[in-house]
Order: sequence, then structure tokens, then C-alpha cells
Amino acid sequence: MRDLPTSRHGQARRGGLRSLVIILLYAFLALTVEAQRRERLVDTWKPTHFNVNISLDNQLSTIERATTEVRATVVKQNVNTIDLDFGELTIDSVNVDDVPARFERKPNRLNVQLNRPANKGDEVEITIKYHGIPRDGLILTKDRDGKPSATGDNWPDRVHNWIPCLDHPSAKATVTFTVTAPVRDLVVANGAVEGSHGNFGGTTTWSFNERRPIPPYCMVIVVNEGTKLDASGLLTPLSYYVPRIDRDYAMKGFSPAAPAVALFSQLVAPYPYEKLALIVGATRFGGMENSSAIVFGSNIFEPGKAQESMSARFGIPERIENVVAHEIAHQWFGDSVTESTWSDLWLSEGFATYFAGLFLQRYESEDAFRSYMKRAAERYFKYEETRRTPIHDSDTADLFQLLNPNNYEKGAWVLHMLRSRLGDDAFFRGLRAYYNSHRDATATSGDLRAALEKSSGLNLKEFFESWVYGTGHPRYELSWTWSNETKMLNLVLRQLQPEPAFPNFLTVEISTSSGSQQIVLKPVGKETRQKLRMNGPPTTINIDPANQVLKEAAVIKGI
Ligand SMILES: [Zn+2]
Repeated sequence: MRDLPTSRHGQARRGGLRSLVIILLYAFLALTVEAQRRERLVDTWKPTHFNVNISLDNQLSTIERATTEVRATVVKQNVNTIDLDFGELTIDSVNVDDVPARFERKPNRLNVQLNRPANKGDEVEITIKYHGIPRDGLILTKDRDGKPSATGDNWPDRVHNWIPCLDHPSAKATVTFTVTAPVRDLVVANGAVEGSHGNFGGTTTWSFNERRPIPPYCMVIVVNEGTKLDASGLLTPLSYYVPRIDRDYAMKGFSPAAPAVALFSQLVAPYPYEKLALIVGATRFGGMENSSAIVFGSNIFEPGKAQESMSARFGIPERIENVVAHEIAHQWFGDSVTESTWSDLWLSEGFATYFAGLFLQRYESEDAFRSYMKRAAERYFKYEETRRTPIHDSDTADLFQLLNPNNYEKGAWVLHMLRSRLGDDAFFRGLRAYYNSHRDATATSGDLRAALEKSSGLNLKEFFESWVYGTGHPRYELSWTWSNETKMLNLVLRQLQPEPAFPNFLTVEISTSSGSQQIVLKPVGKETRQKLRMNGPPTTINIDPANQVLKEAAVIKGI
């Protein structure tokens, strides 16, 4: 997803003793509280399919009736209880394989007793009937037209507030939705539309079938009185669901969508799902990448600041182009290949951020791409001043805190550096192999490394140690001296960051009065020396002229 633009990190500093006390307090808390994050594990059972049937009331203010069938496979011997994640909705009944079952509720948990112990490989079907107003996950609010709406918005683990499930990205499953809503409303959910029929009493029942396993945070329905626009012309059915107020602008506003699907299909693999719906609705994010049913914040088409920079290609604010490409890229990375753990979140967010950059490189210009990556670097550097954690962060307990420039901007830069190091051919071949091995499943950072090592023949252990499991970025200082007598240029490259040396090769461009040449420095430890015979003294020395490394750099003339 894309975070809404906020100024959360822009709070003013307060000086003095108070901040020292706070720093000490945080340091204490960090030592005592920030032990390793506990993630919800798939350790006794895993869901394979959800059959969700929901009836909403006329004002879309409550779930009048819901039935969710959870098909699950037991993954352990002698299991007596299926521990579902479930919020506070009122439960009307719980059945296991069509027989009433005993259950126990705890905060955010529904423990269902099996009628007899189950063993590894056994399949069970649990049917839960419930109703009420979800406290989160299914947002019941007015849309931009002021009409009632219901919109799923689940990241990171809020779907259990309206669907009993195992609320962790690794617990992927297929899902069917049957939604009954007022006849005036449109309904869209994940997967293929299976049809709709009218009922007595002014309601319509809609059916959707997502045949690909998707992460629970991507399971959504959207119900509102908006307009559906068809943007045909693709192999993938593409449509837009927008409030009436956005009807005239939506075709233009979403015009990067079809080119994005085309580009990512070409770079990676065919589009993973049955259809693609772009929806303007209620989400707490700028955009949320629900599989085949992306929801963009309801203000996406509202005019932004006067000086908003515009896309030369599409004639819309770059902000919209960026978020549309980002969320569409997630359909491959995040939705189809899902992060195995929250520590691997960059495999979703870093990829979506980089692929939005690749979209600019293809459809706007090389300059647009370069400045996109430059801005990404600046955002990351700013963030690093406040928090120095690895991308692969297994400590941070608040999952929302993982929506940070480590996972987005630095993640994108990790991919950019890998692409520069491997070359386009091996890089994209490796990404395709990674995608094809893990599509409709999950992947770890190690899986990505393995795929890229195989496609390139390189050992990327040190690279991943530094960039994914380590913190910081290189701060290079290149000092040089020239001897007129020996015609030798002496270069000393130092790495000044507190972390160990980064292994990146570094291109250095040396210009003299008779032309320029590029050499590649291969760091050995934190200080690397190189001598170079040249005809005359350098006029300028430029580190990493193509900006292929996430770094700060200074060139100084020695005495
Ligand atoms: Zn994202």
C-alpha cells in the first residue's frame, strides 16, 4: 500500500533535559520491550479456502447476517482446537463439519473445539455464523458522494474483525464472497464475478470467486452506490468503481493502469488474477493493493497542492501515476508472491516502489526515473537519522511502524543496486524465476537471493548481509593526490559509516583536459587504494556518475 502523505516525522524538536530523559527512557524500553516480535504462526492448522457470505442492512451500517466457512488442513498431530483470529462480532453458531461445536472466545481469538482429535493432513470445515458492526477491517462510512458505503481495509492484520481467519500474510487461501446488499448498490470483491440475482425486499446478491490463494489482508468487498466504468482493451478485464463525483475524471486519472499491467506482464509474468478493479473508497492508506480489487483513498482525484508536479505522458499529477503503478505492481509482488513474515515486507513494498519507478523509466523518461530514485534516497536518509534498523526487521512490534522508508525507499534501492550489479538480463531473469517459483505462495529474502544468485552466478551473501540484514548506507570519502613527476593518480576510498564496509563496486569517473575515463573500485574493507597512470592531472573526479549506489559521497583533494 501507499501511506497517505503525512507529517508524522516532521515534529519539532524540543531541546534540553526533557529530551535526554525521553531518550534514556526509550533506550530502557528498547532494551526491555523490543525483544523479537512474535508473529502469528501457521503451526497447527492452515486455511485453504474461505466461503464468506455477508448480508448488509439498508444503510450499510451493520452486518445483519454473516456465515463464513473456513476449510482448513491440520498441520500437526493430535490437534483438538482450531484457534481462529476473530474480533468482537456476535457469534450465533459454530459448527465443525456440520455438527455444532463448542467454542471459547478470548480477545481477538475464537478457539473451536474439534469433535475428535485431528492429525496432520486432516481436513476440517468450520462454519461460523455471526452478525454485528465490525470495529475495524470493514469500514462502514459515507463515500465522497455522501452515500453509505462498506469497504474492506485490512492491512496488516485487521481482517479478523469481520472474517474469522488466521490473520497472517503466510496463511494464504482462496476465497468466495456472496454479498447481499441494497439493490441500488454496486458490489465488487476479489476474483471473478460469478453473477448476481435480485431478492424479495429490494436486495441483490452478488457472487465472486477468487481461485488463487491470496493473503488475508487482501480479502475485500466494496459496496456503494458509485459508478462502474469499463476500461476495455486489455486481456485482463479492467474496470473502475468510483463515486459519481469522480466519474468524469476517472478514465483519465486511472489511465496509467493499462500500461502498468502491460509493462509488469512483460517484465515479470502475465497478470495473476481474473480481473482488475480500481476502486475509489474508504481506506486508511493512499492505496491498498487488495488482490484484483485495489482500493484508492477517496481523495485520490481531489486537486492537490497548486504546485503538484504533473506526468508529461498522462497529464495527471505524478502522485496519482505513482500510486496507481505502485498498487498494480503489488498484484505480482505482495499479493501473488507474498512475504513469508513481516520481516520480509520489503519483498512487497520495496518491489512496488521500485516497479513504480520502472514505470516512470518506461513511460516518462530516464530523467523522471532518476529523480524518483533520488527523492527515494533522500527520504531514506532522512528516516535513517531517526531510526537505524535493518530492512529485515524482526523486532519492531507495531506493524504499522514497518510502513517506513526502509521497506519502501531503501527496498527499492536494494533492487536498483542489484539490477546495476547483475545487469538487466540476469536481474530480470532472476526476478522472473523468483516470481514463478513462489507465485500464489510465499517467499523470504533468502528465496530472492537464491534466485538472483542462480540467474547471475554471483555470490550475493555479503550484499544481502549489508543491505537487507544490516543497517545504514555507505558514506564514501574519496581522496586523491597527483604526482606530476610519476604521472600517477593515487586514490584512497574510505567508508566512514559506523557499519562494516559495504561490498558495492563503485564507478569513479576521472576527467582530465584530454577526456574522461571510468574505473571501477572494488572495496576491500573500509579503505581501498588504487593507483592510476595518466597523461595529466584530473580536472574533476566524480563518484558513481550513474547513481547506482545508495550512498553519500565526497571527493577531496589530498595534499
Ligand atoms: Zn505498497
